[in-house]
Amino acid sequence: MPVESDFLVLGSGIAGLTCALECARAGRVVLVTKDRLPESSSQYAQGGIASVWSPEDSFESHIEDTLRAGAGLCHRDAVEVVVREGPDRVRDLIALGTNFDLRGDPEDRDYDLGREGGHSKRRILHALDATGHEVIRALSERVRATPNIVIHEAHLAVDLLLDRRGNPPVCWGAYVLDRSTREVHRFVARATFLCTGGAGKVYLYTSNPDVATGDGVAMAYRAGAAIANMEFFQFHPTCLYHPAAKSFLVTEALRGEGAILRRPDGEPFMARYDARAELAPRDIVARAIDNEMKVHGYDCVLLDISHRDPEFVRTRFPTVHRTCLRFGIDITRQPIPVVPAAHYACGGVVADLHGTTALPRLYACGEVACTGLHGANRLASNSLLEALVFAHRAAAAAGERLRRDREALPDVRPWDPGHATDSDESVVVTQNWDEIRRFMWNYVGIVRSDRRLARARERIALLQDEIRAYYRDVLLTSDLVELRNIATVAELIIASASHRQESRGLHYTIDHPRADPAWAHDTVVRRRGDAMIVATDASHY
Ligand SMILES: Cc1cc2nc3c(=O)[nH]c(=O)nc-3n(C[C@H](O)[C@H](O)[C@H](O)COP(=O)(O)OP(=O)(O)OC[C@H]3O[C@@H](n4cnc5c(N)ncnc54)[C@H](O)[C@@H]3O)c2cc1C
Repeated sequence: MPVESDFLVLGSGIAGLTCALECARAGRVVLVTKDRLPESSSQYAQGGIASVWSPEDSFESHIEDTLRAGAGLCHRDAVEVVVREGPDRVRDLIALGTNFDLRGDPEDRDYDLGREGGHSKRRILHALDATGHEVIRALSERVRATPNIVIHEAHLAVDLLLDRRGNPPVCWGAYVLDRSTREVHRFVARATFLCTGGAGKVYLYTSNPDVATGDGVAMAYRAGAAIANMEFFQFHPTCLYHPAAKSFLVTEALRGEGAILRRPDGEPFMARYDARAELAPRDIVARAIDNEMKVHGYDCVLLDISHRDPEFVRTRFPTVHRTCLRFGIDITRQPIPVVPAAHYACGGVVADLHGTTALPRLYACGEVACTGLHGANRLASNSLLEALVFAHRAAAAAGERLRRDREALPDVRPWDPGHATDSDESVVVTQNWDEIRRFMWNYVGIVRSDRRLARARERIALLQDEIRAYYRDVLLTSDLVELRNIATVAELIIASASHRQESRGLHYTIDHPRADPAWAHDTVVRRRGDAMIVATDASHY
C-alpha cells in the first residue's frame, strides 16, 4: 500500500524541518530522510545565520553585500525577499527555543553579532562555533513533538513519482527505498518538497557530510525540471586534512582572529596573492592554496593560530579545538593541516519566490534550489537564511493551495525492479564513485581550463554508460542510488562549466580569465528525451 499524505518533505536539514513544521499547520505531513533526523549539512554549520538585527545595520546594506558577492548574477527580487523576511524567520527560530549567543550585562542583553568576510556590518547570529547543531536541535525537537508529522528515518528517495500525461509532468510524491529492508515504496502526496541539500560528495575533498550526494538535483533533472548555475560551486579554503577525518571544516573565523596560512616549510604565502592576505575573500584564498599545492606538489598547507593566547583559542573555538585534539592536533600549540574542500552548491533546481519549480506540485527549498539569491558566489552565512525564508514561503504556498483544492491522490504503479538481481560486484560502485570524485577535483575543481573540462566530459560519458547499465541490472542499494546521482550532478556541473566562456564568481578558467558582460546570465540545463540541453537564460535581466 502507498504511504499517503498532503505534504511529502524529502530531507531533514533546516529547509526540510522548517517546511514540515509550516506544512503541519495545514495538513498531514510525511517527512522522509535518508539517515537519522539531524544528519545534514545544516547540523554542521559553524559560523551562523546572517540577518539584519542591529540598529546600525540596514536591509539596504545586507542587500548590497549579497549583490556584490553574487558578481552580477543575483536576482534582486530573491535577494530582497530573503533579506527583508530574514529577521522574522530568525525570530521564529528563537521562539522555538534556539539559543543564540548573547552579550552584555544580564539586565541589558542582546544577541552577539559576528562579522564575516563580505559583510559590511556585524549581522551573524551564532551559537559559539556550532550554530547548526543548536538550530537543528530546536527544530527537530519541535518536529518530533508535532502530531501530524510522521517521520521515516533511513529512507532514501530514489525518484520522483510523475504523472506524465501532461507537459510538464505532475509530481505526486516519490519512490522511496527503505534502507533496512531494501524495499521501494510509493510515497504519494499532494505537494512534494525537495529539501535534500547539496552535493559536496561529488568532489574528492568536501566539508559536506556523506548525505550530500545531490539526490534532489539529480531526481529533479531526470523528471524534467530546470537546473541552473551548477558551475558555481563554492570551495571552502580550509578543511582539516587527516586520513581519519572525513570532512571537518575549520571555520574562517580562525583567520578572522589572526590565524596564518603557511606552506609545510613554515613560509606564509597569502600576502603574495592578495593585499588582504588571510582576510581575502574565500574564493581567492581557496585558489591561492590550490595553486601552492599544485605548484609544489604539497598534500596540504598549514593554518596556524598557535601564537594566540591558548585560553582564548579554547573558549572561542571549542569545536575546532576539541575535534582537532581527537586527531592528535593541539591547535593552541600546533598548526592545523588543511586543504580546500567543496562546500556549497550555488546552483540547483530552479525555484521561484514561492519555492515552485517547473513541475506542478514540486517545490524546492534550501541548498538543493537555485532561487537567484547567491548568483555566481554565496555570501557567507546567507544559506541558512535562504533555507528558512524559502521553506516558509513554499510551505505557505502549498498550504494555501491545499485549502483551495484537496484533489484526490492518483493510483500509482508499484516500483518495478524489472529483472534486477543482487549484485556480487559492489566494487563497481566504489570504483566509479572514487573515479568521479577524483576527476571532478582535478579537472572541474577550483581552477578549470578548456582541456581539463574536455577530459572530464569524456570520462563522465564513459562512466555514465557503465553506471546506467549496472543500475538496470542490479537491485537497488543506497550506495548505487547515490552513485547514479553524483554521476548526474557531475555531468550537470561539467556541462554548465563548459558552457560558460568566462570567469565569474566561483567559476574560474585559465582560458577565459576575465568576466564578460555578454555572459551575465544564468546557465540553465534541461533534459529533453535523453539529451541534455544547456542554454543561457536571460529572462531575469
Ligand atoms: C561544515 C559546514 C558549515 C557550514 N556553515 C554555514 C554557516 O555557518 N552559515 C550558513 O548560512 N551556511 C553554512 N553552511 C551551509 C549550510 O549549512 C547549508 O547550505 C544548509 O544547511 C543546507 O540546508 P538544507 O536543509 O538545504 O540541506 P541539508 O541541511 O544538507 O539537509 C539535507 C537533508 O536531506 C536528506 N537527504 C538527502 N538526499 C535524500 C534522499 N534522496 N532521500 C531522503 N533524504 C535525503 C539529508 O539526509 C538531510 O537530512 C555550512 C555547510 C557545511 C557543510
